[in-house]
Amino acid sequence: MSKSKSKKKRTTIGCPHCGNSSGFGEANIVNATADVLSFDEDGEPVYAGDTEIEWDSQKLNPHDPLPYRCDSCGECFAKPVPVAGCRRRKQAA
Ligand SMILES: [Zn+2]
Repeated sequence: MSKSKSKKKRTTIGCPHCGNSSGFGEANIVNATADVLSFDEDGEPVYAGDTEIEWDSQKLNPHDPLPYRCDSCGECFAKPVPVAGCRRRKQAA
């Protein structure tokens, strides 16, 4: 059995709308702790104005059905798709 490297073209993934493969926004959630000075008479917190963001907790928002936004066309999408290395053109009838 010989190992042969398949000459697969590197696939680029990107925007399913326009094919852009660089420049995306991702909806993230991140834990943060807001400093509370005290509580008012209604029990509402009085904020100090500072919020400490825990960047290690940053992750893709699993509740956003379309968490990616393309910088090129501005469309939102759920997952990037292969956009290059596929030269087959589908002809729209
Ligand atoms: Zn796009």
